[in-house]
Amino acid sequence: MLKIDSHTHILPRKMPNWSEKFGYGDFIYLQHHKKGFAKMMRGNQFFREIKENAWNPELRIDEYAKFDTQVQVVCTIPVMFSYWAKPLDCLSLSQFLNDHIAKLVDKYPHHYIGLGTVPMQDAELAVTELERLKKIGIKGIQIGSNINDENLNEERFFPIFQACEKLGLAVLVHPWNMMGEKKMQRYWLPWLVGMPAETSRAICSMIFGGIFEKLPKLRVMFAHAGGSFLPTIGRIAHGFDCRPDLVAIDNAVDPRKYLGKFWVDSVTHDGMMLEYVLKLQGSNRVMLGSDYPFPLGDLEIGRFIEEMALTNKVKEDIFHLSALEWLGIKKENFTDRKK
Ligand SMILES: [Zn+2]
Repeated sequence: MLKIDSHTHILPRKMPNWSEKFGYGDFIYLQHHKKGFAKMMRGNQFFREIKENAWNPELRIDEYAKFDTQVQVVCTIPVMFSYWAKPLDCLSLSQFLNDHIAKLVDKYPHHYIGLGTVPMQDAELAVTELERLKKIGIKGIQIGSNINDENLNEERFFPIFQACEKLGLAVLVHPWNMMGEKKMQRYWLPWLVGMPAETSRAICSMIFGGIFEKLPKLRVMFAHAGGSFLPTIGRIAHGFDCRPDLVAIDNAVDPRKYLGKFWVDSVTHDGMMLEYVLKLQGSNRVMLGSDYPFPLGDLEIGRFIEEMALTNKVKEDIFHLSALEWLGIKKENFTDRKK
């Protein structure tokens, strides 16, 4: 069965030293300190060590073959967003990353689908880059769960979502810049507690801010099975019912109405939770995702889904049909190898 992993990250092997180039800021750069490994540095601070599978496309294709997965949807690593930078510098950095992904997709069209990144801090520049992305064969963008601590329903971001809808570009909302990060450094809590909360923050902002209501054709996917949104939908819907004066001030539609309107990936590490997600969302809005190549990801690329008692139809949805619909791509692109 065709398998498309809807959530993976990639970087170019070499990147300019943006801090030197722009003359300010703690931009990320790579130190290739030993064979097969690189240190991601933020200014002078060590951020994380990555392995060759973060940049080597052929190695990745081989690793995926072990899990019978042919296609990877690739996007950058959220720490590269650089929404805090001067807009034109962020645009230049974004274009560098986007061109790298566009070239990769051109070279390996049966193995890679690309998502871009745009300067969300400047809607006008972002929309210009969206139009360019469309032309160079990128199928959507990845954005942060907040933009410099502002929620996604802020008016200034609306033209970006509007352009995505108009251009038919998919959107992946990825948690980052986690709330409370500084107050919970111990035990990896920003990743274990902050990330799921961030994703729920993004979904709630988009629902209550009326983004989905105003842009019904916008195709949005939320990482990590929607974070804590789906597990706490009862609480969120009850809040909407009991305190409409606080919750329903910008959109009077019940949040449950949006279940199955947006997409989520399968990164739950838990079959019971995935069953619940499937029940709430419908299988045509749940897709295989891994967060490869990072350790908190599902690095067996959905093996636990194979082991679940699901019908073939549900597996087809999860493994490729949902992702194809989200991205606006035809299945034949990947099954007809002569093309
Ligand atoms: Zn991720």
